[in-house]
Amino acid sequence: MTTPFPTGTILGYPRIGRRRELKRAVEAFWRGDIDVAELEARAAGLRRATRERLASLGLGRADSSIPESFSYYDQVLDAAVTVGAAQADGLAGYFALARGDASRAPLEMTKWFDSNYHYLVPEIGPETEFRLASDRLVAEFLEAKADGFLTRPVIVGPVTLLALAKASDAAPEGFRPLSRLADVLPVYVELLGRLAAAGAEWAQLDEPALVSESLSETADELRAAAATAYGVLGRAQSRPQLFVAAPYAALGATLATLAGTEVEAIGVDLVRGTIPAEQFDCTRDALKGKTLVGGVVDGHNIWRGDLAAAFAKLGLLRELSPHVAASTSTSLQHVPHDVADEPLLDGRLKSWLAFADQKVEQVATLAKGLSEGAAAISSALAEASAALVDRRDAPGVRVPAVRERLAGLAPAAFSRAPYDERVAAQQAALDLPALPTTTIGSFPQTGEIRRARAALVAGELDAVGYEDAMRAEISRVVTLQEELGLDVLVHGEPERNDMVQYFAEQLDGFAVTVNGWVQSYGSRCTRPSILWGDVSRPAPMTVEWSRFAQSLTAKPMKGMLTGPVTILAWSFVRDDQPLGDTANQVALALRDEIADLEGAGIGIVQVDEPALRELLPLKRADQPAYLDWSVGSFRLATGGARTETQVHTHLCYSEFGVVIDAIRALDADVTSIEAARSRMEVVHDIERSGFDHGIGPGVYDIHSPRVPGVAELTELLTLAVATIPNRQLWVNPDCGLKTRGYDETVASLRNIVTATRAVRERV
Ligand code: GLN
Ligand code: ZN
Repeated sequence: MTTPFPTGTILGYPRIGRRRELKRAVEAFWRGDIDVAELEARAAGLRRATRERLASLGLGRADSSIPESFSYYDQVLDAAVTVGAAQADGLAGYFALARGDASRAPLEMTKWFDSNYHYLVPEIGPETEFRLASDRLVAEFLEAKADGFLTRPVIVGPVTLLALAKASDAAPEGFRPLSRLADVLPVYVELLGRLAAAGAEWAQLDEPALVSESLSETADELRAAAATAYGVLGRAQSRPQLFVAAPYAALGATLATLAGTEVEAIGVDLVRGTIPAEQFDCTRDALKGKTLVGGVVDGHNIWRGDLAAAFAKLGLLRELSPHVAASTSTSLQHVPHDVADEPLLDGRLKSWLAFADQKVEQVATLAKGLSEGAAAISSALAEASAALVDRRDAPGVRVPAVRERLAGLAPAAFSRAPYDERVAAQQAALDLPALPTTTIGSFPQTGEIRRARAALVAGELDAVGYEDAMRAEISRVVTLQEELGLDVLVHGEPERNDMVQYFAEQLDGFAVTVNGWVQSYGSRCTRPSILWGDVSRPAPMTVEWSRFAQSLTAKPMKGMLTGPVTILAWSFVRDDQPLGDTANQVALALRDEIADLEGAGIGIVQVDEPALRELLPLKRADQPAYLDWSVGSFRLATGGARTETQVHTHLCYSEFGVVIDAIRALDADVTSIEAARSRMEVVHDIERSGFDHGIGPGVYDIHSPRVPGVAELTELLTLAVATIPNRQLWVNPDCGLKTRGYDETVASLRNIVTATRAVRERV
């Protein structure tokens, strides 16, 4: 059984659907509007449409080039369920793991490598009993086969599954899930046996953990685990040929390790990584007969890119192995479906772009070049190169005024008054109680708000009508917060469709899409904007809303901005200059906005940087430079704020320890972070770090509809006040409330205020 690896493939395709069909189906199922059979039928329809689409774009129907990369919610959860590490009774049970239900909290969720996708963190301990508990992968392969497709099943590999898992509650101190590798491998062997019996010729095991230096395992430990895992899987009696994919960064010496096992194909990310020349000799010898799958088409970004350079990289791979295939660097789950599906994008800009479908075509082109020679694709390469030249010289890409302002900045622009001075000035100006309560910014985006926005876009509501509707909503939200007794209020962000797009729509240098959705987690999608040119702010963006909101209350109203790193992280960003330069352009626009907010009487400004962690490079060597520019851009944005203006920031994750130095360097007066899902474990990290600025570890997990009870909240707060100096402590939810319903929001906030008052009396 030695069917060759396909010459062109992709590591995965968006699964949410061109019109977010999966989101709609899954959410309808959650609401009880459709039953499980209907959900399954819709998902199958989506998988069928995807296979047909991929075939029409140039992948083969019968050569294993189409990956079976569907998931109802998350691929890590899928793998955990498959090997019995998470118990799911049917689809309802599967979703309960992800979202929690009356009887259990949801699994923790965290960022998938340096992408904006979030996976669910499996909990594995010595007690976990691995067994093949789901045959969904086999069933989907057979579903394709029945339609005449020979596809390639995809599953998260054993090393990555375990390395991304966390120790279960039952596990002893210091336990590491990866120590269970030998126990989980037989389940993978059994699964591979089933796939082979079903007729699969190739299976793909995703092992991005092998490229990461941000996990608790060292590179050596991960490499040793890879040798063990693929030693065992390679020797399995009955199995498809194995393609191990290592996306998101350079594989380094682990390439030779994998080459030393019996797997038949290895995928390397050649967008983020390279194969250093000194590795060539040893790798070449080890590779004997294996296929090297070059991830040369960027799965992470939407630029059409330099196709000729991509083809040249594949040429270099041929010096390592005669068997080379073209692929994407990562799954295409991080990019939208189709540039052709964007009626409103400027035609010139469109010619510089490639979404998932265009990237599939690029792969098909490169595959053609590999099999027929460069001449066969010379016109496609030339067209892509011409688009690059056109982009470089187009108006708006480089704006002299923006560049001159940046070049003229003095170091003082990046610093505020010393923290002690700020604390005193802010205390005098704001007069807040101990353990001040606040929220992260957004309140539920009701159907009414969405309808008003849709009506505005459709021209059925004029700007005045829309603004009236938003002002009415802001008034409601302010009144509600006063009733609840919160201390620092927000306007609720009803006017924002999205915390990045809202700014992107008002800044020069950005374009926004209509159908460019990408999955963020589960059924949640975002529509990243496209940052294509130099950024500047033609007019204030948030000031009138904040001024209005402050006029309704005597309590402090937080102005609400999205920080430069997050604006970059959640947009598709130009790739023709250092990210730091782009971030500083955005920072200057925000700096001007903060000055205008102060002018409008706003005394607290929150600059959200939920994405600071997610852009952190996977390689340690790259991290200092990243932290330097990312922190620098935040400081440039906030460095002009007055001493008495309290600058808040919000970070959407609880891995405080990983970026504590960065958080410290941001020098925000108050930082709110996620903490509820990990039951406040983070307060110990905060204590250990000696962090001395204001800190609000989230007490309410807003990713779930569950309402935390007063007792539970009191317990979390009691832990916090026992651990962190009370003058530093703030009380807030984990994140914005916009995806929540009003009932659970009001109940949860009421409980938060009640619990805070009780704990306040004791401190
Ligand atoms: N201020 C934003 C909100 O509340 C923050 C969202 C986020 O951190 N993702 O929606
Ligand atoms: Zn958040």
